[in-house]
Amino acid sequence: MKAIVVGGGIMGLSVAWALGRDGHEVALFDQGPLPNPLASSMDEHRLIRHPYGDQVGYARLIDDAYAAWDLLWADLGQRFYAATGTLALTGNGADWAERSAAALATIGKPMIELPVAGLRQRFPQIEAKGVERAFWIESGGVLFAQDIVAALAHHLARQPGVRLHPHTPVRSVDLEQGRITTEAGAVHAADVVVVAAGAWVGRLLPDLGRRLVPSRQVVIYFDLPDEARSAWNKGPMIIEKTGDVGLYLVPPMEGRGLKVGDHEFSRLGDPVAERTASEDDIRPLLDRCRSLLRGFDRWRTDRLKVCFYTVTEDERFIVEKQGACGWVMSACSGHGFKFGALMGRELAHTLASGRDAAAHARWAAGLDAATPT
Ligand SMILES: Cc1cc2nc3c(=O)[nH]c(=O)nc-3n(C[C@H](O)[C@H](O)[C@H](O)COP(=O)(O)OP(=O)(O)OC[C@H]3O[C@@H](n4cnc5c(N)ncnc54)[C@H](O)[C@@H]3O)c2cc1C
Repeated sequence: MKAIVVGGGIMGLSVAWALGRDGHEVALFDQGPLPNPLASSMDEHRLIRHPYGDQVGYARLIDDAYAAWDLLWADLGQRFYAATGTLALTGNGADWAERSAAALATIGKPMIELPVAGLRQRFPQIEAKGVERAFWIESGGVLFAQDIVAALAHHLARQPGVRLHPHTPVRSVDLEQGRITTEAGAVHAADVVVVAAGAWVGRLLPDLGRRLVPSRQVVIYFDLPDEARSAWNKGPMIIEKTGDVGLYLVPPMEGRGLKVGDHEFSRLGDPVAERTASEDDIRPLLDRCRSLLRGFDRWRTDRLKVCFYTVTEDERFIVEKQGACGWVMSACSGHGFKFGALMGRELAHTLASGRDAAAHARWAAGLDAATPT
């Protein structure tokens, strides 16, 4: 089989990797360098965790996601992951952690409820004002995202049968005929075209623009005092919702930065616009950090980063067949990276084996735990 992949973020690279290792011919195009610093996949880290609120379908896929990463580490000859455990905190009427714990109990992955009174003893770096309930699970950790993307692009550049085309924007795709046309006017044809264009997808496939909305998000990297850095450099990852602003905290594992962000979708912005962030973007997040994190007044903002989610109404992924020869692979809604290797491997399998496309779409949407037959 010959495949064209449009987009060299984690999704496009992963499907190219999986097709290439099964001996198929792949041509991958990206509008920028590979890796492209503007891609959503390009940040120091992305989290992987079992707690998933009510979305038990995605929670069930986490073990498969870890197995797919292990396969990738074997091919790359290096592991780009650090375990942290997952601490989920709630209060003030929010119940994401409780719902996650209830859902995980049904699939045999119980979370342990920690007494809030003892929280500061176990995690002295946490202030925990406003926290009413706390749940812990030993699993979960940090994927070193931009290092993975860079290593994967490097690996693919040496893979027989895989051809990378950086700096080659694709102007249009014909998913009925299996053809793409580049900005420079070159036409390429294949048996299948996979569009994995991240937040730019609506430009290539305007009909999907209504279902896949770019969402500008701002994250904060902090410069920590030495004692705070040593307290945080073993974790934990925190997923917190105790009011209007829910935050996630990524600990500074293996020399990376400590990052805080929120999971509130802006549903605004354009990935091609200037990416600057202001104090206004981060004020609510800073306020919450102040009450949650001990000694926060001595933390300094190192840098702000603007990145894009591509969100669907129900936060489920869209990995769907389009036309006779096309697929769209938009596994984001702010939680896709952890499934990158798995989504790539399974889509490659479906493309090669002719598995049922509708069943594949349901699986990728987290609606069926079993992979399609
Ligand atoms: C702030 C933030 C925090 C996140 N945290 C997490 C997390 O903790 N855990 C998690 O699992 N997920 C997380 N995510 C989500 C995750 O990063 C994304 O779901 C994932 O990276 C999307 O990968 P992608 O390959 O679909 O898109 P991208 O990485 O954006 O790649 C798309 C690529 O397509 C290229 N492209 C677009 N249009 C064209 C064209 N016309 N021609 C050629 N090339 C084109 C682009 O240049 C780009 O390189 C987070 C996202 C953000 C923004």
